[in-house]
Amino acid sequence: MSEKYIYFFGDGKAEGNGQMKDLLGGKGAGLAEMTNLGVNVPPGFTITTKVCNLFYENNGKVPDSLIQEQKRNLERLENTFGKKFGDPSNPLLVSVRSGAKFSMPGMMDTVLNLGLNHQTLEGVAKLTGDRRFALDSYRRFIQMFGNVVLGISKEKFEKQLTSVKAKKGYRYDTEMNAEDWQQLITTYEAMVQQETGKPFPQDPLVQLDMARDAVFQSWNNDRARYYRKQNKIPDDLGTAVNVQAMVFGNMGDKSATGVGFTRNPSTGEKQFYGEYLTNAQGEDVVAGIRTPKPISGLQQEMPAAYEQLRSITTKLEQHYRDVQDFEFTIENERLFMLQTRTGKRTAAAAVKIAVDMVGEGLISKEEAILRIDPAQLDQLLHPVIDPSQKIEVVARGLPASPGAACGIVVFTADEAVEVVQRDHLPVVLVREETVPDDIHGMDVAQGILTARGGMTSHAAVVARGMGKPCVAGCEAIRIHEEERLFRIGDIVVKAGDYITIDGGKGEVILGRVKLKEAELSGEFATLMEWTDEFRKLRVRANADIPRDAKVAWKFGAQGIGLCRSEHMFFDPQRVPVIQEMILARTPEERKPLLARIRDWQKSDFAGLFREMRGFPVTIRLLDPPLHEFLPRREELMVEVSELKQALEFNRGDRAAIESNLKQKEKLLARVNELHEMNPMLGHRGCRLGLTYPDVSEMQVEAILEAACDVVKDGVKCVPEIMVPLVGTAEEFKRAKKQIDEIAERIFGQRGLRVLYLTGTMIELPRATITADQIAQDAEFFSFGTNDLTQTTYGFSRDDIGKFLPAYLEMKILKKDPFVTIDRDGVGELMRIAVKKGLEVRGDLKLGICGEHGGDPESVEFCHSLGLSYVSCSPYRVPIARLAAAQAALKEKGAGDLSRAQL
Ligand code: ADP
Ligand code: MG
Ligand code: MG
Repeated sequence: MSEKYIYFFGDGKAEGNGQMKDLLGGKGAGLAEMTNLGVNVPPGFTITTKVCNLFYENNGKVPDSLIQEQKRNLERLENTFGKKFGDPSNPLLVSVRSGAKFSMPGMMDTVLNLGLNHQTLEGVAKLTGDRRFALDSYRRFIQMFGNVVLGISKEKFEKQLTSVKAKKGYRYDTEMNAEDWQQLITTYEAMVQQETGKPFPQDPLVQLDMARDAVFQSWNNDRARYYRKQNKIPDDLGTAVNVQAMVFGNMGDKSATGVGFTRNPSTGEKQFYGEYLTNAQGEDVVAGIRTPKPISGLQQEMPAAYEQLRSITTKLEQHYRDVQDFEFTIENERLFMLQTRTGKRTAAAAVKIAVDMVGEGLISKEEAILRIDPAQLDQLLHPVIDPSQKIEVVARGLPASPGAACGIVVFTADEAVEVVQRDHLPVVLVREETVPDDIHGMDVAQGILTARGGMTSHAAVVARGMGKPCVAGCEAIRIHEEERLFRIGDIVVKAGDYITIDGGKGEVILGRVKLKEAELSGEFATLMEWTDEFRKLRVRANADIPRDAKVAWKFGAQGIGLCRSEHMFFDPQRVPVIQEMILARTPEERKPLLARIRDWQKSDFAGLFREMRGFPVTIRLLDPPLHEFLPRREELMVEVSELKQALEFNRGDRAAIESNLKQKEKLLARVNELHEMNPMLGHRGCRLGLTYPDVSEMQVEAILEAACDVVKDGVKCVPEIMVPLVGTAEEFKRAKKQIDEIAERIFGQRGLRVLYLTGTMIELPRATITADQIAQDAEFFSFGTNDLTQTTYGFSRDDIGKFLPAYLEMKILKKDPFVTIDRDGVGELMRIAVKKGLEVRGDLKLGICGEHGGDPESVEFCHSLGLSYVSCSPYRVPIARLAAAQAALKEKGAGDLSRAQL
C-alpha cells in the first residue's frame, strides 16, 4: 500500500490528532484535535506537508496516488456532510486552507466557497431561499480564487466593487442587492477571461485541484519566505492543505463570524476577548472593511451560541493548558469552530498568564518558567509610554535600546550636564553619533537619539549598557548644531524643546508624553522568585555608580560583577583634576591630585558596598588608555592654531590668551605623547597599573578604605579587586603583590581586617591558555567576553558594523559574536581556562562580566561551563535569572517534558 497522504476529520472522529503538527500543520492538527474532543467542526480532510515537499521535488506535480486518495476522501466528506460536490440540487462547498507547522499569519493563502459555479449557485439560492447570499458567495469565490490561484491582483477586484458601490451611492457591502452582485459577477468573469485568456473554471473538481496546488505554491511566495527568514522557520517544512466543508456566517442576521482569545493577549487578564461581525464571512473580520464588534455584543444578539462558544473555548484552554486563539462561524445560530492555536501575547501577558495558570493548577512552576521567552522580558524592564494617551510619531530610527524617555533637546554632552545640574530638567541628548567622551552627557540624559550608526554603534552599545533608551540611526533628522536645532522634513525642533523617544520601537515623538516606570512587582516578581528555586548560576550586575547598583538590587542582583572604576573619572567636576594628574610628570606632582581622586573614589565605592548589603562587589582597576580622558588631538590642534592667530592679530586679552595657549600646548604635547596607533591593544589594562603604580595604589586604597568604613558601620562587604587585561602570570603576580602590601598597610592603620579577593579579568587568548599559571595567584576569574571576542576573532567591536551585516547575510557568521558567545572559538577558550584554572585552585570563583552575561543563549552556555555567576547590565538581571533557571531545568530534562505537551 502506498503512503498515507490524507487525514480525514468529521463525525466526532479524526484520523490525525493535535500532536501531528509536522505532518498536518498547526491548523490541520488543531482541527483534528477539536474533532476528537467532540467540538462542532465542519468535516474535511488534511493533505499532508509531505505532499507539499513532493510537489516541489516533482516540478509542481502531486504524487499519483494522491489523486485516488483525494477522491475517496471527497466522497467520504460528501457522505458525512450530506451534500454532493458539483450537485446543482444540493451542492457541497469547501474551503481550501493553507496551514504550516508554525503559524504564519496572513502569509499564505486560503480560498473559500469553492465548488460554486453557475449551476450550483442556483442550487444554493434555492436551498437557502436567498439569492443575494448565493451571489455574494460566488463573487467572493471569484475574488479569492482569481487572486490566489489565477494571480490577478486583489486591487483589480476591489476597484470594480468600489466603482459599483460608488455608482449606487452605497457605503457598505451589505447594501449591495442581488442584482448588484449579479452585475459585479459579470464584470469579474469578463475580467478573468481578459486577464487569463480563459473563462473562470466551472468544474468543481478542477477548481479543487487548482486551489490545492496554488496553496502549495503559496508556501514559496515572497512574503512567506520573508516571514520565515525573520522568524527563523526552516524552508523545508512545507504547508499542509485543509479541505473543509463550508459553513456560512453570511446567511443573514442569525449568522456571524469572529475570532477571539481565551484571555486578554495584551494584559493577560482572564477575560474572554474577541471580535465578531454579523452576516459576514471569515475574511471580512480581518479585512477591515467593516469594524467588528466586541464579543460581548454576541451575548445579547445570540446568547445560546455565545454560551456554547464560551464553554468550548474554556474546554480548549483546559485541554491545551494554554491560551487559545480561535476562529468561529455561526450559521443560523449553529456554532462551528474553525481554528484553534496557542495565542501569541505580549511579555506582560505571558508572565501574568503563566503565573495565573500555576495558581489554577493548570501547569507547574517549571512549565511556567520554560514558557516565557527571556528576551521578551526586556519589554517589561524599562519605562514605557503610558498607553492611555494618543501620540504622533514624527520620525523612526533603529530600536537600539528599549524604554521610553522624555526630556528637552540638547546637542552636546556638556550642555546635557549643564542643563541637568543647573535647571534640574530631564534632557534627551541628540547627536550625529556619540563618542566615548560623550559618556558624562549620556549618563545624565534620559535618552539618546542619534542620526547615524547602527545597532552596534557606540550610542547603542553604551545606552544598552546603561539601560538607557536609545533611538539610533534616525536618518530622518538633520542636525544643525551651530543653529542649535534639528529638522525632520519641515518640522524644526530647537534646543530646549521637549521630545520623547521610544527606544523599544525606534520612534521619535514631539513634546512631552506621560511615561510609566517599570518595576518588579505582582506576577513578574512571583515568577522571578520561582526562577531562584531552580537556577544554579548566581546573577550579578555590571554597575559603576550607586544609582545603577540600586536598580540592580531592585531587579534581584546578587552582587556586582563589574564596576568600571574609571567611570567616575568622567564626572565633569573631576575631569580637570584627572587631566592634571595625567599631565603630571612625576609621582611627586601626581601625589596631591591622586589624593583628591582617591577621596572621590572612596565615597563611590562605599556607596556600592552599601547598596549591595554584603553581596560581593567586583571593582576593576583602571582599564582604558589615558588619552581617553584628554581632549581629542584634532580639537586641540585647532584650538592651538586659533589661539596663535588671536595673538598674531592682537585679538582679545593678550595675557589670558597666552596662558590659555600655554595650557593647550601642554595638553597637546601630552596627547601627542600618549597617542597610539592601536589603543585597544596599547597602553591600557594592567599595563597602566604596572607602569603607574601610584595610580593603582590610589585605587586599591580607595577600595579597601571604603570597605573598612562600611564594615565599621556594621554593614557586611566583600570587595573583589579585579586586575584587567592580564596576559601573563607575571603581570598578575606583581599586581597582586602590590595589592596585598597595600591591604596589610591599611588594615594595620585601621586596626581592622576586611576579607577581600584578588582576581583577574580573563579577556586575552593567552590568559585562557595559561590559566593554570595565572590561577596560582588569582582567586577569581571573570571572563571579559567583549575583549575576549575582540582579541579571539581579531574583530574590533567598534568597526564590525562595516562588515557584520554582510557576514550575516552570507552566513559566514550565524550570529553577532558580540551578542551571543561564539561557543566554538571564544567558548572553547573559556572552557580551557575553566579547566586549567580549577586544576590549580579547586575553589576558584568563576564568572562572566561581558555584555554576553545578559544574553539568554550565552547564559545557558555559562551554566553548562559550570560558572558560578553571570553579570550583566542591571536592566537585564531578570532576563539572566530566567535564562539561568531555564538552563538548569532543560538540563534536568524538564524542557522536553514541556515540549511534549500539545
Ligand atoms: P488564515 O490562516 O489566513 O486565518 P484560514 O484558513 O484560517 O486563513 O481562513 C480564512 C478565514 O476563512 C478565517 O476567518 C476562517 O475562519 C474562514 N474559513 C476558513 N474555512 C472556512 C469554512 N470551511 N467555513 C467557513 N469559514 C471558513
Ligand atoms: Mg485562520
Ligand atoms: Mg575590556
